[in-house]
Amino acid sequence: MNSITPISSHQSQIQRKDQQFVWHPYSSLTAPIPAYEVVSAEGINLHLADGTVLMDGMASWWCAIHGYNHPVLNEAAKSQIDKMSHVMFGGITHAPAVNLCETLVQITPNGLDKVFLSDSGSVAVEVAIKMAFQYWISQGQPNKNKLLSLRNGYHGDTFAAMSACDPTTGMHHMFEQVVAKQHFAPAPQIGVHEEWNEQDIAEFAQIISAKKAELAAVILEPIVQGAGGMRFYSPHYLKAVRKLCDEHNVLLIADEIATGFGRSGKLFACEWADISPDIMCLGKAITGGYMTLAATLCSEEVSRGICEGEAGCFMHGPTFMGNPLACAVANASIELLLSSDWQANIQRIESTLKEELAHFDGLETVAKTRVLGAIGVIEMHEPVDLAEIQKLFVAEGIWVRPFGKLVYVMPPYISTDSELNRLIQGIYRVLVKL
Ligand SMILES: *Cc1c(COP(=O)(O)O)cnc(C)c1O
Repeated sequence: MNSITPISSHQSQIQRKDQQFVWHPYSSLTAPIPAYEVVSAEGINLHLADGTVLMDGMASWWCAIHGYNHPVLNEAAKSQIDKMSHVMFGGITHAPAVNLCETLVQITPNGLDKVFLSDSGSVAVEVAIKMAFQYWISQGQPNKNKLLSLRNGYHGDTFAAMSACDPTTGMHHMFEQVVAKQHFAPAPQIGVHEEWNEQDIAEFAQIISAKKAELAAVILEPIVQGAGGMRFYSPHYLKAVRKLCDEHNVLLIADEIATGFGRSGKLFACEWADISPDIMCLGKAITGGYMTLAATLCSEEVSRGICEGEAGCFMHGPTFMGNPLACAVANASIELLLSSDWQANIQRIESTLKEELAHFDGLETVAKTRVLGAIGVIEMHEPVDLAEIQKLFVAEGIWVRPFGKLVYVMPPYISTDSELNRLIQGIYRVLVKL
C-alpha cells in the first residue's frame, strides 16, 4: 500500500476537496495522506462519515479529557453564546475571564499570582519567553536573553517556541538562519520512580553555572516530555532545576500545556516535585477540548519587575485575548474535573494501562513501554509507517496517531476499564501484524 491510496473507494466529496485545498498538521499537499471525515463525536467516540465509530485514544491531542459532546460543557457554551461570544479585552473585562484567572491562581502551585490569557499553546510559550526577556530588560540586565532547554523537549511551532524545542528532532536545522540559538542540556535519564542519582543533573548544573550571565530562563516540560519523545523523568531532577535556577538567578518556565489538568496523576506535574516555577504555560485540556485557549501564569515578582520597567506594561495583547466563550467553557471544564474524584480515576486508568501494556514486552518490534497517569507509551524499535498503521487502527475501531517510533495513548478520563482494554488490545493486534 502506498501513502496516497485512498482510505476506501468511497472517498467523500469532503475528503476529495480536503486533499485539494486543506493543510493538516505536518502534512504534504503534493503527496497527501487521506484524512478521515468525522461528522460528530460523543463520549469517547468519533463518528466517521461512512458510519464507522472509533474509540479515541488521543483525546484529540491531550485536550478532550471529559470526552466529546459533554452536556455540562455544551450548556456552558450555549449559555455564554446567548450573552456574548466575544468582546475585546483592551479596557473591557468580564466574569468568565476573571473567574477563570482566579481559579487558575488558586489551583496552580503557590506563587503563580497573575494570568495572561492567549489563544493557543505556542502563543502561551511565546508570552512566557517574552515575559522572561522583558523582566530582565526591566531589571537592567538585557544580556540575559537566552534560554536553557532540555533535549527531547517540545514547546510549540512558533519561532521562539521552536528555538526551545529539541535541536535535533525539532526544526533547528532547517530554520538555522532564523531560529534563535539557545542552550540545551541532555534529557533527564532517570525515571519517575527510579532511584535518584545527582549525576543525572550534572551537565545541566554545569551549563547553567557557566551561562548564567546570559540566561533569562530555563524552559522545560515538568516530568513528562511530550511531543519530543513521550519520556517521563524524576521529580528529583525538577527539584534540582528549581534549586539551580534560584542559585544562579535564572527564571524557571514550566510548560504544562500537555501535563496540566491531571494527565500525569497530579493536577499539575510541578506537584510531583513540590516546586513552583516563576512562569507556567497552560493550554490543551484547559477547555476540555472545546475551544482554543491558553494561559501564561507568572509570579508577582515577575509581573512587578516587568511593569516597573521602562515600557511600564507587558508588551503583548492578542485580539482574541480572554475570549468569553472559551473562558466560560474552561470554567465549566475545570469545575467538572475538580468536582470528580479525578485522582482515583487517573490512578485507575494508570493501573489498567500498566496491566495491558505489560503484554507488549513480549513483542519483537517493541523496544519498551511506559505509563504515567493517563499516558501510555509503546516505543518501537523502528519508526512506524503512519499511513499504513492508521488504516489498521481504524479497522480495529480505534483512533491512535503514532509519530516516529512512538505509539501512545492519552485517552479521555471518562474511558472505562473495558474501553481501555479494547483500545490497548486493538493496538496489540495491529502491532502483531506489523
Ligand atoms: C502542544 C504543546 C505546545 C503547543 O501548543 P499548541 O496549542 O499546539 O500551539 C507547547 N508545549 C507543549 C508541552 C505542548 O504539548
